[in-house]
Amino acid sequence: MKIAVLPGDGIGTEIVNEAVKVLRALDLDLSMEQAPVGGAAYELHGHPLPESTLKLAMDADAVLFGAVGDWKYDTLDRPLRPEQAILGLRKHMGLFANFRPAICYEQLVGASSLKPELIAGLDILIIRELTGDIYFGQPRGRRTAVDGHFPGAEEAFDTMRYSKPEIERIAHVAFQAARKRRQKVTSVDKANVLETFQFWKDVVTKVHKDYPDVELQHMYVDNAAMQLVKAPKAFDVIVTGNMFGDILSDEASMLTGSIGMLPSASLNAKGQGLYEPSHGSAPDIAGKGVANPLATILSAAMMLRFSLNQPEAADRIEAAVQKVLAQGLRTPDIYSEGTTKVGTAQMGDAVVAALM
Ligand code: NAD
Repeated sequence: MKIAVLPGDGIGTEIVNEAVKVLRALDLDLSMEQAPVGGAAYELHGHPLPESTLKLAMDADAVLFGAVGDWKYDTLDRPLRPEQAILGLRKHMGLFANFRPAICYEQLVGASSLKPELIAGLDILIIRELTGDIYFGQPRGRRTAVDGHFPGAEEAFDTMRYSKPEIERIAHVAFQAARKRRQKVTSVDKANVLETFQFWKDVVTKVHKDYPDVELQHMYVDNAAMQLVKAPKAFDVIVTGNMFGDILSDEASMLTGSIGMLPSASLNAKGQGLYEPSHGSAPDIAGKGVANPLATILSAAMMLRFSLNQPEAADRIEAAVQKVLAQGLRTPDIYSEGTTKVGTAQMGDAVVAALM
């Protein structure tokens, strides 16, 4: 099993080191090779996604990714900015399905800004389509308006579009994921206003015929945003397009209180995937040894489950994370009175010890 390890920038190296430590402790036949990405790659090779890094990722069974970005690169031309590396990997690897679980660990219930009874036991999965929608639709650009409210004025425009196969494949992914969970899919759309999302709804409804054992609910995106804070536990799997998924998955991540706990996976049709924490490179705390490595460690568990077919090893990691939380160990982002504050490496060591 070949893993490309791309730590990236900021806290990326610190948190990925801990995930690699945990993977090595599992005693599996894993080959892990490291390469620079993002700002680190720009410094070394003049590009955020050099050919050699892309090749390593494409040839691997899975990519373990840290985070990229730093404010010091904000003035670079857009194609050279660190974040372009993620877009490049998504495009070249065909990563169309993004999985973002939002799980509220019992011990961290107090970290959420919602009432404990609303989020205790929360376990939802947002599946976001990642390569289509208004983010990639052509044409897009700026021009002089010929009609609309202000003909002759300068305007900008994007194009929202989805093809039938794009919707079908993400719908299959969602129904199959729901089969392994609580058998419920909520498809989020804006069918009342948008032609693209009426089509989305029609196609998802057709695909559902193959999955009679799974319940399908349709919900408008504005209502979904409300229900996520009103009664989040009513959801199991949410499937939606690229833009709605971008927004709702960040909203859902905050239900759990800490961005440092949330893993993510982006998969292609072959099951090859990129696994990364949901947070960024946190330049404000980089190099201080205080970053929470658990989101990255949990991303490694998702990698074992989804791309490397090692569900038992994934279970072991997840159980070890629960154990260290039960022991009261906390990095500063999830610290509360009465618990024990630890740094990044101590947290990684504790997870390794809890595997045994
Ligand atoms: P961020 O997620 O990096 O940080 C937001 C806040 O959360 C910061 O206060 C940070 O200290 C904290 N935080 C994040 N991860 C943490 C962890 N593991 N442990 C403890 N605290 C943690 O978002 P930002 O500050 O908006 O962005 C910083 C850089 O990251 C930018 O350059 C941005 O473009 C980039 N970014 C990259 C990715 C990615 O690589 N996938 C995603 C988002 C942002």
